[in-house]
Amino acid sequence: MTFSLAIVGRPNVGKSTLFNRLVGKKLALVDDRPGVTRDRREGQAKLADLTFTIIDTAGLEEGADSSLIGRMRRQTEAAVEQADAILFMIDARVGVTPDDKYFADLVRRADKPVILAANKAEGRAGEAGVLDAYALGLGDPVPLSAEHGDGLIDLFDALRLAL
Ligand code: GDP
Ligand code: MG
Repeated sequence: MTFSLAIVGRPNVGKSTLFNRLVGKKLALVDDRPGVTRDRREGQAKLADLTFTIIDTAGLEEGADSSLIGRMRRQTEAAVEQADAILFMIDARVGVTPDDKYFADLVRRADKPVILAANKAEGRAGEAGVLDAYALGLGDPVPLSAEHGDGLIDLFDALRLAL
């Protein structure tokens, strides 16, 4: 089976870090500054016996007033449109923000399988944020640490169930 998965979420939650980990190469730029990934990037991901196309996007940011934000948003909408499934990522250390809620609604309207990932969940600092994530109504969150490579087995299970 072959499919494509778009990683979406607001800037700085760790989308590019997960993309690089699943592709096994540093194709995407990881940066602390929000909005550094301005293009869509595609790579071939491998997770256990699943091989799939993965799409990294610029972060979704509410309020399309500046043209950059508008472009980022359109890029993400195009990726959501194109992909077979969506991985919606939040930052477990920050918890659910109003932007997360806004974009969770947008993703839900796409009517495609959605996997909810709560990233940066390593250690105790992410626990409250993981619990918060249940309120998004996108199913059970998968706690992840893209940076440390934790949670990939649960991500694999969630992908299997969603497809
Ligand atoms: P993006 O804007 O969503 O693509 O986020 P990036 O992948 O560029 O990551 C933003 C920041 O979060 C970087 O400083 C990453 O090193 C950091 N980061 C990514 N994943 C994790 C994680 O699992 N744990 C922690 N603590 N930091 C992370
Ligand atoms: Mg990025």
